[in-house]
Amino acid sequence: MENTCLFCQIVSGKIPSEKVYEDAQTYAFLDIHPVNPGHTLVIPKMHAENIYDIPQTHFCDLMETVRRLAPLVKETLNADGINIAMNNDSAAGQLVFHAHIHIIPRFDKDGYQHWRGTPYAEGEMTTIGNALRKSLADEN
Ligand code: AMP
Ligand code: ZN
Repeated sequence: MENTCLFCQIVSGKIPSEKVYEDAQTYAFLDIHPVNPGHTLVIPKMHAENIYDIPQTHFCDLMETVRRLAPLVKETLNADGINIAMNNDSAAGQLVFHAHIHIIPRFDKDGYQHWRGTPYAEGEMTTIGNALRKSLADEN
């Protein structure tokens, strides 16, 4: 995977990146096509495709780096807010299949719109709540 995966090649230095931070388990660099300047990607050094196959400890390490970097990105870019995002599967907008978390600086007047939800139909919320609780109970 190291030879073909874009982000594995960034970790190994075969492909250049604007590195922001690195430790034993994680690597952070600037997104080449930022939503706003300072848009940072945090990745595990170990290859995993996304949320479905990343081991728990690697995900915890990843999120700890996100937790440390997010306020620094906000402060350094003088941002008004920060979005933390992870896209999983093509349907959710995942383009690079090496797990990554986006840290996106946001500005009051940057013009980006959030998606708007639609209300549940009568009874639908309970049905879905029941289905999710059943999935969790069946997991154990
Ligand atoms: P996603 O849609 O969540 O898979 O996001 C992948 C992100 O990787 C996109 O925002 C791209 O702009 C970014 N990206 C792709 N290639 C590179 C690269 N060589 N260096 C930095 N960021 C990249
Ligand atoms: Zn990879």
